[in-house]
Amino acid sequence: MAVRYENECCDCAVPLYPCRGASCPNRHVPHVFCDNCGDEIVDEDLFDDGNGILMCAVCLERKLLDVGVDIYDEDFNYEDYADVVSIEDYIEQERI
Ligand SMILES: [Zn+2]
Ligand SMILES: [Zn+2]
Repeated sequence: MAVRYENECCDCAVPLYPCRGASCPNRHVPHVFCDNCGDEIVDEDLFDDGNGILMCAVCLERKLLDVGVDIYDEDFNYEDYADVVSIEDYIEQERI
């Protein structure tokens, strides 16, 4: 599981709009982390290699290089080696 929700509500209250407490969106800000290297993945795609591990592009590239895949070939396509999951879709699906 690579989604972690963090409380980022730091005095979002202003005189007219006090913090909404439990429903404050800043209290549940999703952060997605690569299962492999632990780096936070921000506005990038996630890659599911079919082993239940969601990884960042750097990890996938490293893994493919290790097994001799030429990721610099012009015909190279991530989707041939892993399911590409958009970060928005992933967060949405984890929420259910
Ligand atoms: Zn708040
Ligand atoms: Zn990674």
